[in-house]
Amino acid sequence: NSFEEMTIQNILLENIQKAKYNKPTPIQSAAVPILISGRDIMGCAQTGSGKTVAYLLPILNYICKENCSSHSMEETSKPTGLVLCPTRELALQIYFEARKLSFGSTLLNKVVYGGTAVFHQLKQIQDGCHLLVGTIGRVVDFMNRGNLLFDDLKFIVLDEADKMLSMGFLTDLKKIFHHSSMPPPDQRQTLMFSATFPSEVQSLATNFMNNYVFVVV
Ligand code: AMP
Repeated sequence: NSFEEMTIQNILLENIQKAKYNKPTPIQSAAVPILISGRDIMGCAQTGSGKTVAYLLPILNYICKENCSSHSMEETSKPTGLVLCPTRELALQIYFEARKLSFGSTLLNKVVYGGTAVFHQLKQIQDGCHLLVGTIGRVVDFMNRGNLLFDDLKFIVLDEADKMLSMGFLTDLKKIFHHSSMPPPDQRQTLMFSATFPSEVQSLATNFMNNYVFVVV
């Protein structure tokens, strides 16, 4: 199949063409329609499979359709999409992919990660944020400070879930999922990507996902 058949916004299709993504990779063909239909996904896919575009496209598509221009400067940031990942390098990579795909739209992508001062990142997310990409520790920081609320959240992605767990982030993940502003599983889409499926990853899925589709490529 093709990207054109996926009923995504024209601006995204144009950026896909500019990026020279001529046809969807297997994970993209499988995951995009499932995500657009509103289901949760547990994806088994390696780096290099195109998994980032597979989950970003449906999220950016939703934001472009719904509320691209409704954000203004606020004390507290309320993103529509949240992508959690283990490392700064991965966070930046995902953020640049999101910017590339939504180039020319009014959609606001922001990225936060540790090891650097909070101040500039805080100002960035307060200037408006539809999609937030972040390392888990720094996202919890902003959440604890009250600068980040999940009232408007429609999508939460755990990228490299196995790696986040092996780095000891289970407690932080639970804090995010149990935050009082977090919508319940049936009122958001939860996406998990992992290269391996140890019991800890499976129990995360059982506890925080809603009737998910398992996609293996
Ligand atoms: P990922 O597996 O998400 O780390 O992506 C691996 C690389 O594949 C990234 O550099 C993407 O820019 C690229 N990519 C993603 N989707 C496609 C596609 N449909 N066609 C060609 N390259 C792609």
